[in-house]
Amino acid sequence: MQLYEEQKIQIYNTLSGKKETFKPIEEGFVGMYVCGPTVYSNVHLGNVRTFMSFDMVFRYLDHLGYKVRYVRNITDAGHLENDADTGKDKITEQARKEEIVPMEVVQRYTVDFHNVLNTFNFRPPSVEPTATGHIIEQIELIKTIIDNGFAYVVNGSVYFDVHKFDETNNYGILSKRKLEDLIHNTRTLDGQSDKKNPQDFALWKRAEPQHIMRWPSPWSDGFPGWHLECTAMSSKYLGDNFDIHGGGMDLKFPHHECEIAQSEAAKGKAPVNYWMHANMLQLNGQRMSKSTGNVVNPHELLSGENKFFSKAFTPSVIRFFNAQSSYRSILDLTDDGLLASEKGFYRLMDAINLLSSIKASDTSTFNVSEWRQKCYDAMNDDFNSPILIAHLFEAAKHINQINDNKASLTSEDLELLKKTMNAFTFDVLGLVNVTKSDTGTDKLAGAIELLIEIRQQARANKDFVLSDKIRDDLAEKGIQLNDGKDGTTFTTN
Ligand code: AMP
Ligand code: ZN
Repeated sequence: MQLYEEQKIQIYNTLSGKKETFKPIEEGFVGMYVCGPTVYSNVHLGNVRTFMSFDMVFRYLDHLGYKVRYVRNITDAGHLENDADTGKDKITEQARKEEIVPMEVVQRYTVDFHNVLNTFNFRPPSVEPTATGHIIEQIELIKTIIDNGFAYVVNGSVYFDVHKFDETNNYGILSKRKLEDLIHNTRTLDGQSDKKNPQDFALWKRAEPQHIMRWPSPWSDGFPGWHLECTAMSSKYLGDNFDIHGGGMDLKFPHHECEIAQSEAAKGKAPVNYWMHANMLQLNGQRMSKSTGNVVNPHELLSGENKFFSKAFTPSVIRFFNAQSSYRSILDLTDDGLLASEKGFYRLMDAINLLSSIKASDTSTFNVSEWRQKCYDAMNDDFNSPILIAHLFEAAKHINQINDNKASLTSEDLELLKKTMNAFTFDVLGLVNVTKSDTGTDKLAGAIELLIEIRQQARANKDFVLSDKIRDDLAEKGIQLNDGKDGTTFTTN
């Protein structure tokens, strides 16, 4: 028997606006698609948060015994500035700035993306398709949409006819927008556009002569629209109707709304049963976004070289910080928040590391089976990781009490506790067991604190030669000792 047969998950479905019991199309199998990055710049921590939330979803489904096919694409063409049909191509524009060809941009930032995800202990998806690797599928899809009467060709570009689609279907079903309101809120076309209506979106764009990333098609030498790429790749690997589609909240409209419209126009059915949207990461109260410059890159947070945070943090502390709030809540990245998570993370690791030396007893003072089910209940409730973590801390408290001979567990309960703690902490949350002394910066801090202690002893013994030597030699290495009324602290540069 698989765990999924006894543990029933509720997923908050953006489509219905409520939590629904998860029932996969085929029992025991889950198809999940998550929109991947547009590889034109280094990923920032906001991007990482969204992918980390879906990594946790993937891990939990896998833990329950589902056979998951997780598809996360790489957008390496067709994504224009402002997510619109006009404006520059993000990758081409970056290529111009860096004086390299677009495919070098793609390679550079795909490698960065993978490196960052590896650092944070992500599981790779089952398939990672690229948009440029699926041009043929996209052309075929456009042909079908045209044949079904939902797209039109103008000057070598193909546009989706939103108004025509809305006559028989519902454009706005996901984002809860109404076409009349959209019409009301958009400026009329200035005669410059090929589109019949401003709400229409490009499936294929004819390339201007200077546009390098171009492919032949029945309509023109050009490139596909960003929304179309995801429809082509998700349906190729998961079918015309699959279980879960995820992405950041900002992709709900227009990107995901357009994906639904394209699939319904081409195949006559809704593509996705459960739409999941991860909420945004903020940096000191403001959304993290490349366009406003309010960003911190992962390596800046891991190295401590940034203007926002007082110290460096390890990848697992950042993962733990992320899991301490629900994927559907806005999360504000602050120094205080990270410092608190760091403390909590090491407290949890210390308790887990005690487990190997704890001895079983004849009686149990803690109901392990009941506690285990509470952990599952938390994750079954729309992947509620903060509640799960509260339960892990409850177990940590008991482990510490057992270690102090104030509580006990039978060997059977002890085994179940170990197995459950390890499964949720490492397999599901994806944390790595590091203790404080494993991290380089903490080792260094420990060594400096030791030197401060020796210097204090030297001063107490009036050995000023030694005490000054310690201070001066450290200063030469960029470590300043600051004598204050509460003792000596240090700063590094
Ligand atoms: P992009 O490469 O811009 O298409 O973004 C990749 C993913 O990161 C998308 O799913 C976005 O929704 C997500 N994303 C962008 N900014 C943030 C943020 N501040 N917090 C969380 N996710 C974000
Ligand atoms: Zn997408």
